[in-house]
Amino acid sequence: MTRSVTSIMKRIRLSVILLGTIVLGGGSPALYAQKVKPALPLTIAPVKDNLYVITGEGGNVAVYVTSEGVVLVDDMFYRNYDDMVAKVATVSDRPIKYVLNTHQHDDHAGGNAKMLGIANVIAHENVRKNLEHIKQPYYEDTPGTPIGLPNITFSRELAVSIGGKEIRTQYFGRGHTGGDVVVYFPDLKVVHTGDLYLSFPRPADKPRGAGIYVDYAQGGSFLEWTRTLDGVLALDFDIVIPGHGPVKTRQDLVRFRGDVEAMRDRIAALIKSGASKQQVLTVFEMDYGWKSTGCPPSPPTGGCLQYQQMDSLIEELRGK
Ligand SMILES: [Zn+2]
Repeated sequence: MTRSVTSIMKRIRLSVILLGTIVLGGGSPALYAQKVKPALPLTIAPVKDNLYVITGEGGNVAVYVTSEGVVLVDDMFYRNYDDMVAKVATVSDRPIKYVLNTHQHDDHAGGNAKMLGIANVIAHENVRKNLEHIKQPYYEDTPGTPIGLPNITFSRELAVSIGGKEIRTQYFGRGHTGGDVVVYFPDLKVVHTGDLYLSFPRPADKPRGAGIYVDYAQGGSFLEWTRTLDGVLALDFDIVIPGHGPVKTRQDLVRFRGDVEAMRDRIAALIKSGASKQQVLTVFEMDYGWKSTGCPPSPPTGGCLQYQQMDSLIEELRGK
C-alpha cells in the first residue's frame, strides 16, 4: 500500500518534472507568450432566427443553431477556438456538428485543426488541395500553427441536413481563391459569401472599386470574380454575411459586384493602352489604397497583401 502510494507520488513528481522540461524546452513562458499572437476578444450577435455572427478577429463566423446541433461557417484563427466555443455556448447547449469553410485562409479556416476534434469540417476540394500544397493557410497566424485538413470535400455543391434544416455550400467559380464557396441558408434567405464579398466602405472621393485581394497563388481570379458573384446572385436571399465587415443586404452585394467590375475594367483598359507596370501600380496605390511600400515581409497587412501578386494580376487582365 505504502509502496503503491510512493510509486504514484513518484509518477506525479515525474510528470511535474516532465512538464517543467516541456515548458523549458519551448523557452520560458514569457518568451512563448511573445511568440504566440494573443487572441482578441470575440462577440456574438443575432442575424436572423437561430442564426448569429461571431466577430472580433479574422473572418465573420456564422453560427446556425438547430435542435440537433450547431453548424458554423468558418472558424477564424487557431487562437480564437476557446473563445469561439464559449460564444457558441451562450446561444446553444447543443454540440458543434459541422464547420463549413468558405476558403482556406487562416483567418477563416485556422481553427480547423481544433474543430476536427469535435466536428466534421467541410470544404471545397480545392481548399484541401491548397492546404496540402502550401502547408500554411495564410501566414497571418503564428508560424507553425497546426493546419486542419477538411475531412469532407466536394466539387460543386453539398447539402447538410440537420435538425429539420438544410444548409447548402456551393461553388460558383474562382474569385478570391480557387476554392471559394458560398454557404446558403434557404429557410432564412441568408448567404455567407466568405471573402468573395467584403463590406468595408470605400472612401467617397475615390473611384468605384472594392478592397479585394486576389490570391493568384491559390487559384484566385480578378477576371472571373464577377461571374462567380453572378452565380451567387442567382440564389434567393436578402441578407448577406460577408467575409469581413458588417452584415449587409442583397442590394449591397449587387453594388459591390458593380464596383469590382468597374475597377477591373478600368485597370484592364489601362493595361491594354500600354501602361507600364509602375503606372498600374500607381493607380492602385492612389485610388484603391493598395500599398507597395512599408510592407513587412510577414505577416501581410491590408493594402500590402494585394500587391504581392501584382504581376499575376496584370498578366491575367492583359489577356482579357
Ligand atoms: Zn481570405
